[in-house]
Parts: sequence; structure tokens; C-alpha cells
Amino acid sequence: MATLQLDMFTTLALPAHDHAETYIGTCKVCKATQKRTADTLTYSGHLHYGKCSNNCSYKGFRVEIDFRKIQGTYNPRIKCGFKCQTATGPVCECSCNGANHGGKA
Ligand SMILES: [Zn+2]
Ligand SMILES: [Zn+2]
Ligand SMILES: [Zn+2]
Repeated sequence: MATLQLDMFTTLALPAHDHAETYIGTCKVCKATQKRTADTLTYSGHLHYGKCSNNCSYKGFRVEIDFRKIQGTYNPRIKCGFKCQTATGPVCECSCNGANHGGKA
């Protein structure tokens, strides 16, 4: 019974909005990590692509960045900070539930 009550508390403690539809990717040319929502990306072959916001080009073509969905896991014991906000990968586990992952929105 104690376990059930803990699960209920954990669910209620989640922020009201989730960030499941935020994607993160890093430009191979300028190395800038960027965040996008799914509706701004091109979906092709189960991958999401988007152009670099710095208008990078490589061999005459606009750079297409491979974006990956941010997988936020809410963990109130890990305080959101520098490590999360400078992350370049999609996996997040901290108190922001992915909201600040890879840079504050
Ligand atoms: Zn770039
Ligand atoms: Zn965070
Ligand atoms: Zn994070």
C-alpha cells in the first residue's frame, strides 16, 4: 500500500505540461546544439531532420541536422543545472523533466 501511495505522489508531482515533442540536434558544421518542435522538422525514414538555424552549408548544400526527441525523466533529486542545459544528447533525467535540456527555451 505504501508503494501505491508513492506512485500516486510521483505522478501528481509531474509538471502539468510535458516536453515530449521537443527535439534536440547538433550541427556538424557549427557545433551548435538546437531545439525544435516536431512541426518544424521534416520527417523521413523514421528520422527527423531540420536545417541549421545558423544557415550552415556543406559542399554547397544547406546542412540538415538529425534531430532526436528529448526523453525527459522527471527526477526531483537531481537538480537541473549546467550539465542538463549544455547537453547535446536526447536523454534527460533531472528536476526540469526535459524543459531546460540542451538550453533554456
Ligand atoms: Zn550550423
Ligand atoms: Zn534539466
Ligand atoms: Zn536535461
